[in-house]
Amino acid sequence: MYLTYICPRCEQTNQSGDVADVDGLECSACGWSRPFADHLDLKQGGLSECLRCGNTDLWRQKNFPQWLGLTFVALGAITSSIAWAYHRPVWALGILMGFALLDMVLYLVMPDVLVCYRCRTKHHRADVSQHGAFDHELGERYRQEKIRLEQAQQPTLPKSPSPTESESLPRS
Ligand SMILES: [Zn+2]
Ligand SMILES: [Zn+2]
Repeated sequence: MYLTYICPRCEQTNQSGDVADVDGLECSACGWSRPFADHLDLKQGGLSECLRCGNTDLWRQKNFPQWLGLTFVALGAITSSIAWAYHRPVWALGILMGFALLDMVLYLVMPDVLVCYRCRTKHHRADVSQHGAFDHELGERYRQEKIRLEQAQQPTLPKSPSPTESESLPRS
């Protein structure tokens, strides 16, 4: 298993080594590190909590990049409309179906990843059997929590001093 995560200190995206070989996470940019908790048996592959933040809510998803799916849709639409323009309706249909099939096959062979609701760390090659798909209600709760945290961390801006009489045009 290995992780793709965003460093909490410098926000650099990092990829960890195989978690069976390393003791923890370390950011390559700023040196931030976090050791893995002792109670986790990482060699087993099963995962009960996020290795980056310790959160127990994780969802499983296909590691299928959205841009790839969109590229297929676009390519299929363009090539099939070219075939259509040359009066080849069977070709046009065949091309569309071919791309849809390719999309489906790729989706099926793509591995699952476990994603943390709180920090969005992706756990690759983990045992995903204990986890469900993305829950929108739960996702929304974490989104709200994040907003609240960000607001709490934001220093209250000091009020800009209003210009006083003396600061305006110097009197001669
Ligand atoms: Zn960092
Ligand atoms: Zn996390």
